[in-house]
Amino acid sequence: MRVNLEQAIAKLKRGEVVAIPTETVYGLAADASNENALQQIYAIKERPANNPLIVHIATKAQVGDWAAEFSPLAQKLAHAFWPGAFTLVLPAKPEVLKIVRAGESTVALRIPEHAMTQQVLKESGLGLAAPSANKSTQLSPTTASHVAHGLGEHVPVLDGGACKIGIESTIVAVEGDEWRLLRLGMIGEAAIALVAGKPANKNKQATPRAPGQHLLHYSPITPIKLFDSKSDLIDFATTHKGCVALMIGDGEIASGKTFNLPNNPHTLAEKLYDTLHQMDALNAALLLIEAPPNQTEWLAIKDRLSRASHKTL
Ligand code: AMP
Ligand code: MG
Repeated sequence: MRVNLEQAIAKLKRGEVVAIPTETVYGLAADASNENALQQIYAIKERPANNPLIVHIATKAQVGDWAAEFSPLAQKLAHAFWPGAFTLVLPAKPEVLKIVRAGESTVALRIPEHAMTQQVLKESGLGLAAPSANKSTQLSPTTASHVAHGLGEHVPVLDGGACKIGIESTIVAVEGDEWRLLRLGMIGEAAIALVAGKPANKNKQATPRAPGQHLLHYSPITPIKLFDSKSDLIDFATTHKGCVALMIGDGEIASGKTFNLPNNPHTLAEKLYDTLHQMDALNAALLLIEAPPNQTEWLAIKDRLSRASHKTL
């Protein structure tokens, strides 16, 4: 069900859920200080209780409502990357609801850039928990119709067009003057290190962890097989009928439909989930996908595709 801005704000204030557009993917939003509202997010998404939620806020001034510490390093990163596809995990104030942080001692915060969602945040005055508006482990939505298709027509959706970034935010945990990368996104490690003035702490024992980063994630219903080269993919398709292919730049398979995405990580990311949704709708036996090149700017896309393909590995 489509709702307009005023209806979305009224619903959120009443403790109801609304799917909202962001520049990364559509989020299933609810008041992050309302336990009942948050329970609806977990129920609708069938999200495991140990997977915490990102709280979306309008301004840096609101960080102090949620985080117990906003260190100079965290402030530097916030200044460089907010508003945008960047999430900071910071030590939480004790009063932040346990259901938001899934029992962790930290809270994840993001200021999104999408104009409509900025307006929702500003006019409601709320912090909004908003994980991707899809069933847990399935493909993330980048349009209002993806949300309706994945969660059902009864879920209210604020339509803000197609998401411009197209994959989930980069997540960075900051404790004092140390930072760690918890999830890759289109803002890469090198850009963060440059702003931080130091490399990430890669100590495996370090906390916080990023719970909920399961190997099977971001996944279509149809199984996926990844190929390191175009020719391997094309060869496979000649002996396996009923497949659909996704290739980067040029190329096609003779035995089925081929989707081609641009050979540029940013424009490819913008179209990636929509293309996977379209491929999934064709009820093919298998989706054959050309793996991106081994260069750092493709790492986030590689991460999503390898998780999406996990069940066929
Ligand atoms: P999403 O489902 O895209 O909204 O992303 C939520 C992800 O953010 C979770 O799966 C966690 O990996 C990470 N996250 C959220 N809150 C925290 C937290 N308090 N500590 C560590 N990671 C978090
Ligand atoms: Mg998600």
